[in-house]
Amino acid sequence: MSEREPTLEERAARERALAQLARTVEACRKCEIGYSRTKSVFGEGDPCAHLMCVGEGPGEMEDATGRPFVGRAGELLTKMLSAIGLERDEVYICNTIKCRASYREGTKVRNRAPTPQELINCRPYLDEQIAIIRPQVILALGAPAAKSFLGPAFQITRMRGRWYEGPHGIPLMVTFHPAYVLRQGGMALTETKRLVWADLKAVRARLDQLESAPEPVSEGVPSGAQPAGPPEQPTLF
Ligand code: SF4
Repeated sequence: MSEREPTLEERAARERALAQLARTVEACRKCEIGYSRTKSVFGEGDPCAHLMCVGEGPGEMEDATGRPFVGRAGELLTKMLSAIGLERDEVYICNTIKCRASYREGTKVRNRAPTPQELINCRPYLDEQIAIIRPQVILALGAPAAKSFLGPAFQITRMRGRWYEGPHGIPLMVTFHPAYVLRQGGMALTETKRLVWADLKAVRARLDQLESAPEPVSEGVPSGAQPAGPPEQPTLF
């Protein structure tokens, strides 16, 4: 174990803190969607994870299961992580909002974007998760998650693939949401995968850099995507 790895006591303390916070979220009814949801989706993974992945919010399957990133998008996220040598249970996965934002259309329940007030109401829970886990890197998946950290002017096609300073000065990378990748086809799919792969490699390189640093890194977060090692082809996911 490296000297910066948490002790067993520290791990247990983080698990307890997250479990307590999850109970608070489960009981939360600050928004209307707190009543319409099936299950709250708090987040899951290693409480001492070096990487935290943050998406927008639960969809139908997440709402039904209470777990983030399940279904096809979740499977793709697992493959994306595997492509940079990470098992899903080694990272921490959650969303900016913990209840499914939805509306009724006849007998159907449809997803919708969270309202600004819902995002504000739910933000303290994400902030507390980040404070408990203290990841070395945050990966925001999709424009809504990125905007929640970097403001409404963030444009994912123009501004992804660079390092930003996230909460507590944690390096923050933005890439496309796996569900967006799955909606692409043909050349657009190839190009989107190429961009996601570049972002993932930058995350891997940053984690390697931080994990091999003799002392905790205290300098500012560099801007611009960082080159990472091989392989170069994006067919790993
Ligand atoms: S979305 Fe967040 S703040 Fe709103 S009810 Fe659900 S847990 Fe509470």
